[in-house]
Amino acid sequence: MTSLDDQAADVNDAIDTLLSQFPPSRTDAKAFWGAQFDAGLAWVDFPKGDGGLGVSPSHRELVSRRLAEAGAETWNTTANILGIGMGAGVLVTHGTQDQRKRWLRPMFTMDEIWCQMFSEPGAGSDIASLATRAVRDGDEWVVNGQKTWTTLAHLSKWGMVVTRTDPDQPKHRGMTYFIVDMEAEGVDIRPLYQITGEAEFNDVFFDDVHIPDDQRIDDVGAGWRVVMTTLMNERVAIGGRTFPRSDGAVGVAMDVWNESGSGDVATRRELARLWGEVEAFRLTTLRAAENMQAGVPGPEGSTAKLAWADLNKEVTSFTVSMLGFDGATIPEGYSLDPTTYDTREVERVMSPQRAFLRARANSIEGGTSEIMRNILGERVLGLPGEPRVDKDLPWKDVPRG
Ligand SMILES: Cc1cc2nc3c(=O)[nH]c(=O)nc-3n(C[C@H](O)[C@H](O)[C@H](O)COP(=O)(O)OP(=O)(O)OC[C@H]3O[C@@H](n4cnc5c(N)ncnc54)[C@H](O)[C@@H]3O)c2cc1C
Repeated sequence: MTSLDDQAADVNDAIDTLLSQFPPSRTDAKAFWGAQFDAGLAWVDFPKGDGGLGVSPSHRELVSRRLAEAGAETWNTTANILGIGMGAGVLVTHGTQDQRKRWLRPMFTMDEIWCQMFSEPGAGSDIASLATRAVRDGDEWVVNGQKTWTTLAHLSKWGMVVTRTDPDQPKHRGMTYFIVDMEAEGVDIRPLYQITGEAEFNDVFFDDVHIPDDQRIDDVGAGWRVVMTTLMNERVAIGGRTFPRSDGAVGVAMDVWNESGSGDVATRRELARLWGEVEAFRLTTLRAAENMQAGVPGPEGSTAKLAWADLNKEVTSFTVSMLGFDGATIPEGYSLDPTTYDTREVERVMSPQRAFLRARANSIEGGTSEIMRNILGERVLGLPGEPRVDKDLPWKDVPRG
């Protein structure tokens, strides 16, 4: 294993070559992302050939920083966050070589958007109680059931779906994980509206949807371990993103403060306190990244997610309060057409007012803050686990509402 410094030198060389062969100002975004993938700079910690260079995940920050400084388009990582932030980690950890080859590159180039279908009307925090059924039929599986809160389902080509394949097993053991074609017959996607007025997520109904067995991820009945990989990656994708110093929500707060021309000492002091908290969070996230293994982040993802959810709410609330009466309305209008909802557009036009409303979801999406605290209590602090009375019962015998 080469030292972190040697690895950084290799990553810097690869970035220099990429930028000289594909200058961002003269290269179309998709072509650039394709070249970035081929250069091993999509997820630097992934193996060579899978969009990586096989180095420590801590070098991801170096890549993002240098590409942003060079003016490269990086919005694919937010617009396709369920794929690039989560699906990729799943494929590299549990996928076959064919699956990685088939899906990773078009995911990174944004040719194929991904979504994640875990939550159901009766299964959220306790995802292992899910009821969507998959039944084997030769070389295929037939899926029936309902998923909900599926972010970006309406824009997606592929969806990660976890299903119940053996109801006689205890709930954690009878699940199997698939990648489903969101354009397949029997997939019905219906928009759900949020407090922001947009329909970023959806209900998804499966009515005899056929999934080829070669789109199964890992073994039959091994769905829970793939779920865990997905969720660990999700928490990092949501909470572990490292913005440059003074960027993101706190950067917006600073802009609003500067534009207000206010000399109010109490407000300035509060802004300085929040800036310090955000900076401490940023540095902690960078340090945690050095301990991560490729593909499977540990509980540090839950720490980051929990801390970021609170902090983002605090900063966006502060910004809106500085706006006074103007903070009560959304300047860009309340609603976007749900059929054209696009994270790229939203990222670019998101006002502080809408960011404030959107931040309410941070402590729910990707696992609630209560669940993050449970994980930290049990897995980091070693506290006794919650009572789990249905853990060993066959899923079909567990009472459900
Ligand atoms: C913006 C947004 C996007 C989302 N995108 C997706 C997506 O793309 N795919 C997907 O599958 N899901 C998605 N979700 C769903 C999200 O993962 C769930 O909402 C979340 O896991 C909580 O589940 P629930 O809503 O069923 O609440 P419940 O699990 O019913 O929880 C209700 C309340 O009880 C608390 N609670 C539950 N169990 C415990 C416990 N053991 N200890 C302490 N407190 C507990 C919770 O913290 C919460 O406050 C999204 C949600 C949001 C808000």
